Amino acid sequence: MERVIFWFRQDLRLSDNPALSFALQNNRQVIPLYIYNDDDNRDWQLGAASRWWLHQSLESLGADIRTRGSQLIIKKGPPLEVLRKLIKHTNATAIYANTLYEPENFKRDDAIRSTLERMDIGFHCYHGNLLCPPSHVKNKSGGPYKVFTPFYRYYIKNGFDTRLSATPKQLPKISGNIKSDSLNSLRLLPKIKWYSNFETIWQPGESGAARSLQVFCKKRIGKYPETRDIPAEDGTSHLSPHLHFGEISPRQIIASLNKAADFSAIFGISEARDTVVRQLVWRDFAHHVLIHFPHTTTQPFNNSYKNFPWKRGNKKFFDAWKKGKTGIPIVDAGMRQLWQTGTMHNRVRMIVASLLTKNANIHWLEGARWFWDTLVDADLANNSMNWQWVAGCGVDAAPYFRIFNPVSQGKKFDPAGDYIKQWIPELTNFPTRYIHEPWNAPDKVLQEIDIVVGKDYPRPILDIASTRKQSLDNYNNFRKLKG
Ligand code: FAD
Repeated sequence: MERVIFWFRQDLRLSDNPALSFALQNNRQVIPLYIYNDDDNRDWQLGAASRWWLHQSLESLGADIRTRGSQLIIKKGPPLEVLRKLIKHTNATAIYANTLYEPENFKRDDAIRSTLERMDIGFHCYHGNLLCPPSHVKNKSGGPYKVFTPFYRYYIKNGFDTRLSATPKQLPKISGNIKSDSLNSLRLLPKIKWYSNFETIWQPGESGAARSLQVFCKKRIGKYPETRDIPAEDGTSHLSPHLHFGEISPRQIIASLNKAADFSAIFGISEARDTVVRQLVWRDFAHHVLIHFPHTTTQPFNNSYKNFPWKRGNKKFFDAWKKGKTGIPIVDAGMRQLWQTGTMHNRVRMIVASLLTKNANIHWLEGARWFWDTLVDADLANNSMNWQWVAGCGVDAAPYFRIFNPVSQGKKFDPAGDYIKQWIPELTNFPTRYIHEPWNAPDKVLQEIDIVVGKDYPRPILDIASTRKQSLDNYNNFRKLKG
C-alpha cells in the first residue's frame, strides 16, 4: 500500500480540507503530521496568545484523528529535516499540504519542494484556506489589485466555488512504529498564566469553529449589518482565530451563510450574508496584498512613507496604552478586553491603532507587534494590512488626515458606555454623559460617585485635540520636505 504524509499547517481540520482529500485517494495510507519548528529565529514567530491557541487546537485535532482510527504524529524541528527523516523511516512517496501564504513560509516551501523533487518525492500543495486561489485574481492589466473595491467586484462577478471537500469518516490506521513527540514537549503554553479567562471564552479546534458558525447563523446573522460595529453587542461571528488556524474554511462559512439566506431571505438575511462575505473578501484581500507585496509585514506598502518620522520607544505612552491606562475610556476598554480575552472588537482596534499611530505618532509596527503577541487571531496578512490601513501608509489606506477621535467614536458606537463599563470597573457608576471624557466631569458629579480622576482612573495621557493638530502638522511638514 502506498504511504504518503499529510502535513497539517494552518489547516487544523478534517472537513473541507482539499489536500487531505487528495492524499486519501486511491486507498493510500496517510500519515497525519504536524511539525513544530522550535529552532526558528525568524521574524514573526508565534505570539503568546497564538501559542495558547495552537496547543488547544492540536489537542483537539489529535482527538478527532484518534476517533477516526489514526494518530497525529507531532515532531519538533526544522521541517525539511523532519520530513526527510520521516520519509526515510516510513518509505512515504509524497507529501500533501495546503498552501501557506506568508512570504517566509512560501519561500521555505519552494526550497522544500526542490529538495524533495531531487529525492523523487512529490510535494503536492492545494488551495484550501482562501475563497479564491490568489494566482487566479488579477486586475485588467494582469497585475495585483491595490484597491479593495475593484478586488471585491472581481469576486462578486466571478462568484465563489462553495463545493466542499468530503470529510473523512475514517482514517487509515498507521502501520509500523512511528514515534510522536508529546504535545506538552512543544512547551506551547506560555509561562505567565494570564490566559486563564481564555479557557472560558474560546473553544479552539474544529468543533469549536463549527459551533461558533452555527450559533452565528442561528442567532446573530440577521442583525450583523447593524450590530457589527457596536462593541457592546455580541454581533460578530468570532470566527477569526478559527479561520487563522484553518479550523474552518471560508468556503464552509459561505456554504452555511447561503443555507441560512435560502431559508430566511424574508428576514433580510441575504443582505446580512453579503455583509459577512464582504469581510471574508477583505481577508482574501489582505492575503493578496501579503503575497504580492511581502515587504508590507515590516515596511509601508506606500513607499512614500518610508522615512515618515514615526517615533519608536515612547515607553511611557506605550506602557499606558498596553495596560489600558491612557485615561481615554474607549481605548482603555479595548486594550483591557484584548489582555483579558485575546481579542478586541474591530471598531475599537481601529480606534486604539489610530491613537497610537497618529495622536501619539508611534510607529505602527510597535502596535502591530503587541497585537501579534496578545491576539488569539494574530494573522500576518490581516494584522499588517489593517495596521497600515489605520496608519495611512497601507494599501487602500485611510488617508493620513483621517484621525479617529476616540471621544466621538465612543459616543457614536458605545452611546451608553456599556462597553466601557464592561471592561473598566472603575467607571461602572460614571454618568453616561461624561463616560467618554471623565476629565470633563464637574467636581460635583465626581464627588457624588466618589471618584477622583487622576487617582481612581487616570487623567488622559495626551490631549486629543492638540496631538491631532500636531499629527497633521507632522504630515504636512513631511510632505513639504519630500517636495
Ligand atoms: P466578523 O465581523 O464576524 O468577520 C468575519 C471574518 O471576516 C473575520 O473572522 C475575519 O477573518 C474577516 N475580517 C473581518 N474584518 C476584517 C478586516 N478588517 N480585515 C481582514 N479580515 C477581516 N483580523 C485578524 O483575523 N487577525 C489580525 O491579526 C487582525 N489584526 C487587526 C489589526 C487592526 C489594527 C485592525 C483594525 C483589524 C485587525 N483585524 C485582524 C481585522 C478584524 O478586526 C478581525 O478580523 C475581526 O475583529 C474578527 O472578529 P470576527 O471574527 O467576529 O469578525
